[in-house]
Amino acid sequence: MDISFLLNALNDAQREAVTLPEDTHALVLAGAGSGKTRVLTHRLGWLTEALGMAPWNLLAVTFTNKAAAEMRARVHQLVGAKAEQMTLGTFHGIAYRLLRQHWREAGLMEMFQVIDSDDQKRLIKRLLREMGLDEAQWPVRQVAGFINSNKEAGRRAAHIDPGQNPYVDTLLRVYRAYEQQCAARGLVDFAELLLRAHELWLKNPQLLAHYQSRYRHILVDEFQDTNSLQYAWLRVLAGGSGRLFVVGDDDQSIYGWRGAQVENIQRFSEDFAGVRIIRLEQNYRSTATILKAANTLIAHNSGRMGKNLWTDGDQGDPIRLYRAFNELEEADFVCRQVESWLEAGGSRSEIAVLYRSNAQSRVLEQALLRHGIPYRVYGGLRFYERAEIKDVLAYLRLLLNRDDDASFDRVINQPPRGIGARTLEQIRAQAMQQDVSLWQAAQQLVDTGALAARARTAVAGFLALIDQLSSACRDLPLEQQVMTVISRSGLQAQLEKSKSEQAQSKIENLDELISAAAQFRPDGEPDDAPPLQAFLNQAALEAGEHQAEPWESCVQLMTLHSAKGLEFPFVMMVGMEEGLFPSQQSLEDPARLEEERRLCYVGITRAQKKLVMSWCEQRRWHGKTLYPMPSRFLRELPPDCVEEMRPKASVSPAWRQDRALYEESAAFASRQGDGLKHFAAPSFRIGDRVRHARFGEGIVIGLEGGGEQARIQVHFDAEGSKWLLLSLAKLERA
Ligand code: ATP
Ligand code: MG
Repeated sequence: MDISFLLNALNDAQREAVTLPEDTHALVLAGAGSGKTRVLTHRLGWLTEALGMAPWNLLAVTFTNKAAAEMRARVHQLVGAKAEQMTLGTFHGIAYRLLRQHWREAGLMEMFQVIDSDDQKRLIKRLLREMGLDEAQWPVRQVAGFINSNKEAGRRAAHIDPGQNPYVDTLLRVYRAYEQQCAARGLVDFAELLLRAHELWLKNPQLLAHYQSRYRHILVDEFQDTNSLQYAWLRVLAGGSGRLFVVGDDDQSIYGWRGAQVENIQRFSEDFAGVRIIRLEQNYRSTATILKAANTLIAHNSGRMGKNLWTDGDQGDPIRLYRAFNELEEADFVCRQVESWLEAGGSRSEIAVLYRSNAQSRVLEQALLRHGIPYRVYGGLRFYERAEIKDVLAYLRLLLNRDDDASFDRVINQPPRGIGARTLEQIRAQAMQQDVSLWQAAQQLVDTGALAARARTAVAGFLALIDQLSSACRDLPLEQQVMTVISRSGLQAQLEKSKSEQAQSKIENLDELISAAAQFRPDGEPDDAPPLQAFLNQAALEAGEHQAEPWESCVQLMTLHSAKGLEFPFVMMVGMEEGLFPSQQSLEDPARLEEERRLCYVGITRAQKKLVMSWCEQRRWHGKTLYPMPSRFLRELPPDCVEEMRPKASVSPAWRQDRALYEESAAFASRQGDGLKHFAAPSFRIGDRVRHARFGEGIVIGLEGGGEQARIQVHFDAEGSKWLLLSLAKLERA
C-alpha cells in the first residue's frame, strides 16, 4: 500500500517522529508552529496504515473539544472512517465516557450529573451558609480553589490531616461537606471526573488491565499543560506495555495557575525508559519577523529548556504597535484594521482579536456591531453558561433527578412564583435537619402544613409543575422535551413579557438550545444513558467552550488562553498594558510573570502573516479609570521588528471630540450595567479639558447621574483623578 501521503508533507525531524518504531515512547519537544500537532495526527495515521494497528487501540488526548474535533477531521482526511474508531477527546471527555460506562465500579449513581464551575460555586455558597461561615471571610472562589487543587493533586478530604491550622481545618470541613453533598446528589465536578477516573483504575485492577491492553498507544497534545493528576492517569493507563507519544512546548505552558506542571516534561523521560526525544526547529506558521519577535520575547524567561526556532519564510511586515487614547478608541481601531484587511481581499475568518481577560470583549463587541462586522466570541460568552440556558437545563435536570439541589435552588422561584427568601430558608433548614434533599424537604413542609398558606400553595405549585413536566416529557424526543420545558415552565412567557432587546436575544438563545437538542448525538462510544441525560452532561462539559456554530465568516474574539494551538493569518493583541497584561496579580510574583510572558509568546505565535498590538493610555476597568503604562512585553520585543503607528504627540485628538461615539458607547455600557450608567452629559463631555479653581486643569474622564446628582470625574494634571459634584465644582472649559 502506498503510504507516502503520510510522509510527503513532513520534514526530516517530523518524519523521524512519525515513523518511530512501534515500541518506543516519544517526546516531541518543540516551539510554536513547528508542526507538533501535525506530527501527532500523522503518527495516528502511521500506526494504523503502516504498522497495521487497529484504530481502537489508539487513544489521543487534546486540550479542548474544538481541538479534538479538528484532530478528528484531520485524521479522517488521512485514514478515512478508521478515525471514528479511535478514541479522541479531551481528558475530561474521555474520563466522562469511562465513568458513564463503569459508574458502578466508580462508586457513582447511574444518573450522575456533571456540574460546571458555576454550579460548583452555587453549591459551595449554599454549604457555607449552612455551616454559618461568612462569605466575606471565606470567598467562594477561594474555597472552590482549595477543593479543586486538592482534587487535582489526587487528595480527597480524607487524605488531608486536620489540625494543621484553623484556616485549613475550616476549608477541610467545607471540602468534606461538599464531598458528601456531591455523593448524595450524584454530582460530579470537573476535577472529580479526572479523580474518579483515576481511582477507577486503582480500585479495579481487572478493568485497568482491560484498558491497558486496549489502549496500546496513547498520544497527548499540549503535554506541557497536563496537571499531576492527568499525568498520573496517563502513567497508570500506559502501565508496562502502553506506549506514550507526547508533544509539547515548555514555552507555552500557561495553565500553571490551574495546577498544570511543566515539570511533567522532565519527569516523563525519567519515568519511562528509553524515551526518544525529538526536537522540531523549523517553524512553518509565521513570518520571520513575527518569529523573531516571539523568540526575543521568550528569551527573557529563565529556566527554559531552550530551543532554536527558525523559518525560511518571508521577512513579512513589521509588527504594528498602536497607542490608543482609551479602550473605546482601541476598539474602533480594531474595526478599522478589520475593514482594511477586508478591502485588501482578506476574509473575516482570517482575523483573531486576542485579549487577556474576557471582560475586554464587551467594548470590542460593541464597536464591531456598530461597524456591522460579524464576529464571534470564542470561549467568552459561554452558551451553556448563560443564565437563561442554565435555567432551562436546571428544569431538565430536576426532571431526571429531583434531589439535584443546585437545580432546585436555581429554579424554585424562576420565573418568580412568590416563593420568598424566608420560605427558602425554611426549606433549607428542613433539609439540613432531616438530612434530605431540598425537594424532599419542600414536600415534607407542604405535607405537614408547616408553611404559611400562600407559601405553601406556591411551593406545592412548583412541585406539581415539575411532576407534570416530567410526565409530559416522558417518551418525547429530546428536542420536544426541551421545548416543553421552555414553554410550560413559564420561562418563555416571562421573557416575552419583557420587550427589551436583551429578552429578545435570550429567546433566540433558547431557540438555539432547542436546535442543539435536535442536533444532539451522543459523542463517541455508544452511551447507554437516556438522551436527556447524555445531553445535559454534554452541556456541562461544553460549558466554557465555544458553541458548535459555523464561524467561517466571522472575526474571532477570544482570550489568549483559548487561542492555544490555533493559527490565524491576522492577529491583533489588544490591551497590552501593565496591570492587564501582564496581569496585576502577576506583577509581584516572578513565576507568574514568566507564565504571563509565555502567554504573550502563545499570542504572538498565533499570527501567520500580520500582527498588530495595541495599548491604551486610559482604560475604564471594573468601574475605575486607569492610566496604565504600556506592557513590559512591548519593550521586550526587538525594536527592528516593531513599527509604531502613531507618534506620541498626536494622541487621537479627533477621536476625543467624537461625541456621538462616546454617547453611544456610554448608552451601551449602561445597558450592560457598567459603571457608566445614567450617562447624561450636562455640559461637559468625556475628553473635554476643564479648569477647577483649586485643582487646576484636567481632562474629563467620567460622568455619572443627572440633574442635581450629576457627578463628574476629572483627571487633573497635578492632582490625579477626582470625582466632583457637577453642580458645585464650578468647572470651566480650559
Ligand atoms: P502550536 O505549538 O502552536 O500548537 P504546532 O507545533 O502544533 O503549533 P502545527 O499547528 O502542527 O504546529 O503546525 C503549524 C502550521 O505549520 C500548520 O499550518 C501546519 O499545517 C504547518 N506545517 C507543519 N509542518 C509542515 C511541513 N512539514 N510543511 C509545511 N507546512 C507544515
Ligand atoms: Mg499544536
